[in-house]
Parts: sequence; C-alpha cells; structure tokens
Amino acid sequence: MAFNSVVLIKQVPDTKNITGQAMLDDGTVNRAALPAIFNPEDRNALEAALSLRDRCGGTVTVLTMGPPSACNILRDSLFRGADRVILLTDLRAAASDTLATSYILSLAVSQLPDVHLIFCGRQAIDGDTAQVGPQLAEKLNLPQVTYVEELIEASDSTLTLRRNLGDGYEVVKAPLPLLMTIVGTANTPRPPAARRMLKYKRARGKTELLKEAADKFGKDATDEIETYVQQRSEDLSAKGLLIEQWDLDTVKADVTRCGRSGSATKVHRIQSVILTGTEHKRVEPTAQAIGDLVHELIEDHTIG
Ligand SMILES: Cc1cc2nc3c(=O)[nH]c(=O)nc-3n(C[C@H](O)[C@H](O)[C@H](O)COP(=O)(O)OP(=O)(O)OC[C@H]3O[C@@H](n4cnc5c(N)ncnc54)[C@H](O)[C@@H]3O)c2cc1C
Repeated sequence: MAFNSVVLIKQVPDTKNITGQAMLDDGTVNRAALPAIFNPEDRNALEAALSLRDRCGGTVTVLTMGPPSACNILRDSLFRGADRVILLTDLRAAASDTLATSYILSLAVSQLPDVHLIFCGRQAIDGDTAQVGPQLAEKLNLPQVTYVEELIEASDSTLTLRRNLGDGYEVVKAPLPLLMTIVGTANTPRPPAARRMLKYKRARGKTELLKEAADKFGKDATDEIETYVQQRSEDLSAKGLLIEQWDLDTVKADVTRCGRSGSATKVHRIQSVILTGTEHKRVEPTAQAIGDLVHELIEDHTIG
C-alpha cells in the first residue's frame, strides 16, 4: 500500500547561537537576533516519511506555519525529497501558543486529500513543549503514537512502531490514519540531493516574490509589483517551483482562536539556566517532603 504522508516542520531560532536579546518585552521571540534553523527532530520526521515512501510509494507533503522566511526550510525539504511544500503564513497567527498553533494546523491538514499519516518532530527546540503533535491528533480525532524511534511494519490498515521511552522501549500497533512524533535517534536525515538543489533553489513563495518586486521597482510601484508577481508566479508554477502559500482565510480559521487572542499561554520570561554543582538539594522520599518541594516550585513559578 502507498501512503500519503504530511510532515509538520517548524523554523526555530538557533538557541545555541543567541547573538542578541533573545526575547522581546512582550514575551515573544526576538527572531531578528537569532539565526533561524530547521527544527532538528523535524528533519528526522521528514526522513521517516521519505523512507516510508521509498519503501511503499505514496507522497510526502511538508507544511509549516511561520514567517515568510520559513520558505528556507521548505526549500530544504524539497532538496531532500519532499513532493509538495506549503507555507501557512499570516500576521494574525503571530505569537500563537500551542493551543492556537495546533488549531490552525488542524484546519490546514484537514484541507489535504487522503492523508494516511502525519509526522511531527517530538519537540521544537524553542518552545520545547512537545505539545503540538498530541494536541493536533486530538483536534483531528486521530490515534497518536509519540516518541517513535522505528517504523517496524506497515500494512493497509496498521503500522507497527517502536517507541523510545527513555528508560526502555515499547512496540505498538496502531490503526491508520495516524499521527506520530519522531525522536532524534530514529534515523540519520538524508543530505540534500545536488540535482534537487539545482532545481529547487529557485523555488519561491508569494511573499518572497512581493519583496523581490519591491526591491526591483520600489515599494510604492504597486502596478509594476502586481504585474511582476503575477508573471513570476505563473512562470514558477509552470516549472513546479511556486511554493504554495496559505493564510488564515485559506484554511477558514476563526481568527479569535489564533495568535495572541487564541493563546491561553503567555510566555512571561525566558532565561538561560546554567546549573552549578551546589544548586541541588536532597528531598526525602516522603509525602511531606515532596509536598514541600512542589509548594516551593509553585512559589517560584517553576511549575503551575
Ligand atoms: C520560550 C518559549 C516558551 C513557550 N512556552 C509555551 C508553553 O508553555 N505553552 C504553550 O502553549 N506555548 C508555549 N510557547 C509557544 C510555542 O512555542 C508555540 O506555540 C509554538 O508554535 C509551538 O510550540 P512548541 O514550540 O513547543 O512546539 P512543540 O509542541 O515542541 O512542537 C512539536 C512538533 O510540532 C510541529 N510544530 C510545532 N510548531 C509548528 C509550526 N509552527 N508549524 C508546523 N509544525 C509545527 C513540529 O513537528 C514540531 O516538532 C513558548 C514559546 C517560547 C519561545
């Protein structure tokens, strides 16, 4: 059986190379100060989908919700073998927490035909919540298998998977359609293929073409910009090089459930925590001692 897979990928700040103030005062990421990269475990998710397609046939569609610059990770996905890539970008989705993000992604995935499998990375290295995959499965009313390290067997109606639980493994059989989150130890992502890089390095999304035109004619030359973008879009589309660009209207989203208004979580502050040897204390395995610890963690906003 051939499988139609959707892979959800995220462009994230390279938290290992912070060059300026990481967070803005409003609790959102200062993306200008942080080089943007392909979320590492999303590359493993893409590799898992591509190798299943190599084994069984089918298609691999890659979808990301993010700023126009996320076209870079979509081009990277095309270089590695994706069949179709979609950018969902809309300023009204900015600052979405996982609730809003999974809502928007659920609408987008629901617009794709005959989806058998959804691949997510286990976790994004910026929000670090590992919540979007499971939340998305809930919203799509799909079974989910998280921490997948190996696709053992595929049949017309089920997948047999091995999960890495950290201190052991679990083998599960799950019905299709299915959502999986893939861990970083699942595989070694294939490198970009030179032949595909030559072809797809010229792939562009609409917002990139608008910027190209504004740089060429000046941002006030509206007629020239419109004509230029129209012609370039037709030309790229004819060559299979136009990156599909969707927004909240394309997926018919209720905008009150998106962005800040749709987000229950507000990121208060982030800071780099470097633990030194002295900063630990022994907690006796008693209900009282553990109760005191939880109370202390709530007090200093570590939890709750
Ligand atoms: C420092 C920090 C702390 C945060 N804390 C919270 C919090 O506690 N609760 C909360 O609700 N939000 C939080 N957020 C916001 C959260 O980062 C965003 O909502 C984000 O879009 C999704 O959450 P995540 O980064 O944790 O992704 P995860 O849930 O870790 O992502 C798991 C997988 O989901 C898929 N995915 C995630 N985002 C996208 C996307 N935009 N497009 C396509 N696929 C995607 C990818 O496959 C990814 O590997 C935080 C953000 C920051 C920067």
